[in-house]
This record gives sequence, structure tokens and C-alpha cells, in this order.
Amino acid sequence: MSMIVYVDMDDVLCDFTGSHRACRVSHPHIDYPQSIPGFFENLRPLDGAVDAVNQLRILEAFEVYVLTAPSTRNPLSYTEKRIWIEQNFDYEFTKQLIICSNKGLLKGDYLIDDNIQGKGQESFAGQVLHFGSAEFPNWSAILKEFVGS
Ligand SMILES: [Mg+2]
Repeated sequence: MSMIVYVDMDDVLCDFTGSHRACRVSHPHIDYPQSIPGFFENLRPLDGAVDAVNQLRILEAFEVYVLTAPSTRNPLSYTEKRIWIEQNFDYEFTKQLIICSNKGLLKGDYLIDDNIQGKGQESFAGQVLHFGSAEFPNWSAILKEFVGS
């Protein structure tokens, strides 16, 4: 049986913080850049993220899902996250997208997330790999954990 791996989106697959910061500088009067239509759709993929996830997807050993909490005050985030997955991966992978505010409800073996609490990560029954931490600073560290290279 394959292991179920959940991958967070913001600051794990896509550069939410970078875009947010850049937008605050270019449009200082906008307090919440994430409310601008197109914000979520146009986020830049983080280095190595798409390649690494595609590597895991083709392995029988893993069943990969994207598990992201919505930006609930920004209804477009739901649609744009779906569009982002198709644009940066493929249509097939949109079927693996789960948008949920409580990640602790999902059953699985691994959750790769830059936050270890706040959206149910703290009650996730599997192992949480803390993306951006000293142990898992980037996608090559994550890949090493799963495929040893
Ligand atoms: Mg995140």
C-alpha cells in the first residue's frame, strides 16, 4: 500500500510571502494583497517544488495530495488555487487538491507544511515535515527524506 503524502501550497509549493511582500512595496495602500484578483493564481512556484512533487507522483510508493487551507476572506482563493495546480502541474493533479481549514481531519502518513500549527497541523496523526526548518530547509531535503537522493 502506498503512503499518503499531503503537501501544503503557500510557502511550500508557491511563494506566497515573496509575492505578498513585493505587493506591499509596490502597492502600499493595499493592506491585503491576497484580496487582489489573480494574486493566488499568479504566485511563483518555489525552487524545485514542482519537479520534486512530480518525482514523488510517479512513484508507486506514494500517493500525493495537495492540502491547503483557503484564504476564507478571499473567495477567489478557492478557484485560483485550483487553476494554479493545473497551470503548474497538470489537469490530473487537480483531482488531488484538497482545500480544508482543518488539516488534522485528513488521514495520512506525511504532511509537508511550513506551519506546524494553526490549521490543524498540530492534530495531524501522521508525521509533519516542517518545510523551511533546519531539518527540511528546501525541496531537496524533502526529496532526500522520501527517495534518499
Ligand atoms: Mg503554508
